[in-house]
Amino acid sequence: MDVKAQIKILLALQGLDAEIIAINKSLKALPERLNEMHRDVAALEELLAKEQEALDQEDRWKREKEEEHQFLEAQIVKIRKQMQESTAHRETLALQRQLDTSRKQAADMEDEILQTMQAVDARRAQVEARQGDLVELKERFSVEEEEIRGEMDRLQAELGRLKTRREEGSVGLETSVKRRYDQIASRRHPSVVEAVDGHCTGCNMAILPQLYNTLYYANSMEFCPICQRMIYLKSAVFCDEEGSSGAPKADDTETSSGEEGADQKASG
Ligand SMILES: [Zn+2]
Repeated sequence: MDVKAQIKILLALQGLDAEIIAINKSLKALPERLNEMHRDVAALEELLAKEQEALDQEDRWKREKEEEHQFLEAQIVKIRKQMQESTAHRETLALQRQLDTSRKQAADMEDEILQTMQAVDARRAQVEARQGDLVELKERFSVEEEEIRGEMDRLQAELGRLKTRREEGSVGLETSVKRRYDQIASRRHPSVVEAVDGHCTGCNMAILPQLYNTLYYANSMEFCPICQRMIYLKSAVFCDEEGSSGAPKADDTETSSGEEGADQKASG
């Protein structure tokens, strides 16, 4: 197979490789999106667990205070009874002081309990809202996850088809050329580039006139000395299709850069 035909095959391979690269990129990004979603859910669950713990603690504290309050109330009843039964003046006075203290304590405790009840109610509303958010988030993610998994399956199938096409498309390519292409393609894309206006379009560096002239004949596989990419001249490789000769004899062969071509020819 001549060099022109091989370059055409390589360009077709490169087109497939561009698609493969894009698919692989998506196949890498999509699971990352899934991980991100799972992290969001985990973070919300953690937050919810903390708030639930705070709620339980406040609730426990409230119940303890309520028990203490009941105990105080019982104390008050007991003191009152003792006062009714008391005959000694000094004892009655002492009991009265005890009663006042207990009443004051009970009143303070009622205030505290009331405040805690309000805090607990607010916290409970917050926890319930958060639970609602979590359910909503999980539902949303479950739909999105299904879409992502479907998309990944589709991309995997497409990748398989592209790889088959790549295999089929490589038929006829010289082994050494294919190996060299794969070698370059594993590092850079595109790996087969056009020479335009005396420059490699891969690295934008100027090409020596001697190499540029070689490209006109398209009789050998050539490489950019700077970026090592395979390099070709469009007018030379596609001369049959464009109905023109790729040889440097005719000045009008290089459609896009005729002048440059002429310069190269003159200097070469
Ligand atoms: Zn280059």
